[in-house]
Amino acid sequence: MKKDDCIFCRIANGEIPSKTLYEDRDFRVILDLGPATKGHALILPKEHAADLYELPEELAASVFVLAKKMAVRMTERLQCDGMNLVQNNGEAAGQTVSHFHVHIIPRYAGDGQKISWVPGKPAQEELEAVKRQIAE
Ligand code: 5GP
Ligand code: ZN
Repeated sequence: MKKDDCIFCRIANGEIPSKTLYEDRDFRVILDLGPATKGHALILPKEHAADLYELPEELAASVFVLAKKMAVRMTERLQCDGMNLVQNNGEAAGQTVSHFHVHIIPRYAGDGQKISWVPGKPAQEELEAVKRQIAE
């Protein structure tokens, strides 16, 4: 279902114009208005899902296939040197638009952008505890 007050629903369904790179029954791929690098694109499902938790499994499966196709094409066309796929869920994770989307960010040697974190140094016991918390 589309949500009338959701900007990405309106873009994905063509009510608001966008720089569209690709479209099919389920998805629209557009250029990000505030690109991290040249070619930064967003995959938007046409159906509203706020985030990964709400995304139906069939779309979760097909979105990665589409991400691969776009990454291959964009790498060929833009001659970039690498590619980041980024997908934020929740404010704490940096999500600013509450409609599921995948960022496709072409990377160019020396582009100066950072998509990174500070690595922790957990003890073995900590790793074991978190493993148990998730896996058991
Ligand atoms: P998030 O932080 O939620 O993962 O990413 C939201 C992204 O959407 C940002 O990179 C931002 O630049 C982009 N964005 C926000 N509003 C619009 C819009 O109206 N059109 C387009 N093309 N991109 C948008
Ligand atoms: Zn939406």
